[in-house]
Amino acid sequence: MKLKKALLILGVVVFILSCATNPFTGKKTMALVPNSQLFPTSFAQYDQFLTENKVVTGTKDAAMITRVGQRIAVAAERWLNANGHEGYLNDYKWEYNLVDDKTVNAWCMPGGKIVFYTGILPIANGETGVAAIMGHEVAHALANHGQQRMSAAYVQQGLAVAGNVAIKDEKSRNAFNQYYGVGTQVGVMLPFSRSHETEADKIGLYLMAIAGYNPDEASELWKRMKANSGGQAPPEILSTHPSNDSRIANLAALAPTAKAEAKKFGVTTFR
Ligand SMILES: [Zn+2]
Repeated sequence: MKLKKALLILGVVVFILSCATNPFTGKKTMALVPNSQLFPTSFAQYDQFLTENKVVTGTKDAAMITRVGQRIAVAAERWLNANGHEGYLNDYKWEYNLVDDKTVNAWCMPGGKIVFYTGILPIANGETGVAAIMGHEVAHALANHGQQRMSAAYVQQGLAVAGNVAIKDEKSRNAFNQYYGVGTQVGVMLPFSRSHETEADKIGLYLMAIAGYNPDEASELWKRMKANSGGQAPPEILSTHPSNDSRIANLAALAPTAKAEAKKFGVTTFR
């Protein structure tokens, strides 16, 4: 019992010492597992996923995923640089792959490793819809939402000893897999929290607008998502937190702000 209590106190101390500032919100966030340790694990898991799944190459759709991904990443870099966060993306290694799978989903692992399933393309209904999804997923990665969830898990499991967590031992790796939902469970991630979803929606909207995609399309996309999701357990992109209706209303209300943000970067017309 005494040890548990000590670990808990240590965990709290480490938590306070390990807060990082989210450049998008200015809020303090938990960053117990440094990117230098989280990203290599993420990259390895992503590579493994690609070997175990059918990656689509050489098609129009595959080229579109790459094109949209690159434009969103450039938008992210421009936004970060303009707001005094040069070098923020140094450890990121962007990669965009289309996987032949009828699942309606897309995800981004820590450090910018993205997968779109072919099953989500009919709902995306074209490049602008893909940009809305891409913006949202990239936003989760930029805001380190996965890392925050990992950090919370480490504190919870008493793995965060002395503020220096390695993902090398088996117990830590299992926690990574469990809380980021990678490995065999990849793509079936635990839902992000409501606040993380709302944050990713907003950042994603800005990114798509700066990349030249019409942010008005985001709320339209979510209407299609809602129409499609009848009764099924929602995958990450269809997360019910917040509810579809409040999400649609929120995105529609924010679209003019996203266009105003894009104007700062000289983007005034949208595809
Ligand atoms: Zn999300």
